[in-house]
Amino acid sequence: MSDPVLPFDKLVLASGNAGKLAELQAMLGSSVEVLPQSQFIKEEAEETGSSFVENALIKARHAARASGLPALADDSGLAVDALDGAPGIHSARYAFGGDAANNVKLIDELRGVEDGKRTARFICVLALLRHADDPTPIICEGVWEGRILLEPRGTNGFGYDPLFWVPEAGKASAELTAAEKNSMSHRARAMQLLRERLGLR
Ligand code: IMP
Repeated sequence: MSDPVLPFDKLVLASGNAGKLAELQAMLGSSVEVLPQSQFIKEEAEETGSSFVENALIKARHAARASGLPALADDSGLAVDALDGAPGIHSARYAFGGDAANNVKLIDELRGVEDGKRTARFICVLALLRHADDPTPIICEGVWEGRILLEPRGTNGFGYDPLFWVPEAGKASAELTAAEKNSMSHRARAMQLLRERLGLR
């Protein structure tokens, strides 16, 4: 199931996160070399989109243009139904004070919302552009359904993991081991789809 325009042997990752680069390199294997955008770019792209897809495309296009290479970007966050999808694309800076402040704000915003209405999902969008003007980008979206807890549980992971109840595991995301989370998370699902689109097993 390989894409006719692929393969390429190098791509640039539109992120400054070394952890993401390592994760992605491991996923793609030795057939593709993943380069950090810091090799080509001084300023990161401004995320002016109103959706995960738009922001992933903006970041990938910026990296492809600067490097002259295919570029991959990801954009992710938490969407809570009772908050009309907030914090959404603003997940990282919801309370402008880091993960702990974000979690306090989320608990406050959902105060009084009954259990059955606390549904939410993590979303991860991966966008791959073969070149900066690619009119048919590869877009893969992973979704992880859950519920927002009344108070934090667990110490693993990052971000909203302590407040995200995972029904399929019977635990909060922050109570999962890294291996457990990586077998079911929104990011894992998006990456698996990308692997399939690239013809990797
Ligand atoms: P980014 O993909 O690093 O830009 O993540 C955006 C924000 O969404 C993070 O700062 C977290 O607040 C939230 N987020 C995304 N993925 C996760 C996750 O797997 N667990 C907890 N929070 C996440």
